[in-house]
Amino acid sequence: MFDVVIIGAGAVGSFLARALSRYEGKFLLLEKNLDVGDVTSMANSAICHSGYDPLPGTKKALFNVIGNQMIQKIASDLDIPYKQIGTLTIGYSEDDYQKLLGLKNRARLNGVPAKLLDKEELFSLEPRISKEACCALLCPTGGIINPFLMVVHAAENAVDNGVELHLDEAVIALSYERDIYKVKTSKGEYEAKCVVNAAGLRADDIAALLTPPSWSIRPRKGVYYVLDHFDDHFVNHVLFPLPSSKGKGTVVTPTTSGNYLVGPTSDFIDDKEDFTTDAESLRKAKMDAMRLIPSLPFAEAIRTYAGLRAVPSTGDFIVEEEKNYPGMIHLAGIESPGLISSPAIAEYAIRHFLNKRLSLKEKENWNPKIRPYVHPLKMEKDARDTFLSLHPEYGEMVCACEKVSKGEILDVLSRSIPCQTVKAVKKRTRAGFGKCQGGFCQVKVVQLLAEHLHISPSEVLYSGIGSYIAPYQVAKGTHHEG
Ligand SMILES: Cc1cc2nc3c(=O)[nH]c(=O)nc-3n(C[C@H](O)[C@H](O)[C@H](O)COP(=O)(O)OP(=O)(O)OC[C@H]3O[C@@H](n4cnc5c(N)ncnc54)[C@H](O)[C@@H]3O)c2cc1C
Repeated sequence: MFDVVIIGAGAVGSFLARALSRYEGKFLLLEKNLDVGDVTSMANSAICHSGYDPLPGTKKALFNVIGNQMIQKIASDLDIPYKQIGTLTIGYSEDDYQKLLGLKNRARLNGVPAKLLDKEELFSLEPRISKEACCALLCPTGGIINPFLMVVHAAENAVDNGVELHLDEAVIALSYERDIYKVKTSKGEYEAKCVVNAAGLRADDIAALLTPPSWSIRPRKGVYYVLDHFDDHFVNHVLFPLPSSKGKGTVVTPTTSGNYLVGPTSDFIDDKEDFTTDAESLRKAKMDAMRLIPSLPFAEAIRTYAGLRAVPSTGDFIVEEEKNYPGMIHLAGIESPGLISSPAIAEYAIRHFLNKRLSLKEKENWNPKIRPYVHPLKMEKDARDTFLSLHPEYGEMVCACEKVSKGEILDVLSRSIPCQTVKAVKKRTRAGFGKCQGGFCQVKVVQLLAEHLHISPSEVLYSGIGSYIAPYQVAKGTHHEG
């Protein structure tokens, strides 16, 4: 019998698992994919929004602002790359200036520091901004984070503190009888006192397994360009246009890895599995971004991707207990700014719902920190030389573009949450994220995975079930060594 079963290991489910791991009890995190954070939590803008944009009084405003206040300590405890670089929302006219004044007032109501800048102040911070820009709203508490490590490290810390994680296990049925939930999955059945629905785009499908929800989730697609790391200070802040009814608009933002993201677009679609990008949407993202920075070097584009926002029919995050089903908690419709809100949503769910039902008792030995990761490139030269002489595998480069060593890959393979696909290695170490997009390093990553998993290289998966990279065996005697 579990105290809590969490369905879905995206940012929301993983941060809830970590927050619950502070307490005594039996907690299970179920994820249908082969890795945590493989859906919306890995395909977004990776911005720690300050909270100036959501309407005051909404759950989005509440959790965004609290999440932003929590993130510095979380990033330090969980070794997540995070930078508080501030955000700038750009205006081009007197009319825009009035709108920025309105946003500044909204920021004040949400408790977010914000300052209006004139043209001169704006250009001193961002010299490459369009000459047509004349004003901006600076929110210094906004920032950027590595979204892959945010989820992976939260889940890893939860597991290190005793939470059970089952990957590749989809929830397929739910029932409730005599105060106990039965959670049926593709691999078994579990009993639980509480169930938390953190299934992202599928949250309405999960809710419907118990009772038809009064709300629904519709995917809204955003496509992006990723630009290579060509200049650390090409852009110094997250740059937003003025928000519209379609969202916060196409941004130009640095990432914690030194790349730049350009996107997203914002279009409703019907298919929750459609992660394709298309020329027309990319063209639109490019045009919108060039209004902010006309000199954006699209020759540096190394890939494109799409993410799907889980837009709720209610217009706000759904963070509530299901009526007539005590202990069935929905954390649904967590569209943007859900990444930065997720730690705050987790704390709220425990305080307002789970603790009331479970009377949770704090553990004495909870460890908020993740087992330290080694970062040879951040060491002083002497310290690095000594370290490499003791651990030569950290000097053996696997990914030359992103400078990832064999030692770092072996480390992530040895951690408490399984790392069993090429994409899982890529998300954790950045091997394959560079200019060659895995052209050179992927074969080495496949070999390391095959050795670790005791399988043949032809059985190694890229990401999901069936995603074989090299499904054909090389016939003996037909290949040449060297
Ligand atoms: C284009 C775009 C830009 C964004 N930009 C930002 C931003 O800059 N900053 C920000 O704060 N937020 C941003 N967001 C929002 C943020 O990405 C999401 O709010 C957040 O990732 C949602 O996390 P989640 O855990 O709810 O969902 P997900 O990450 O989708 O996780 C849900 C999990 O549930 C699993 N699941 C589903 N069904 C089942 C089942 N039957 N059994 C078991 N598991 C199941 C899925 O496989 C998945 O892993 C953006 C989103 C998009 C799409």
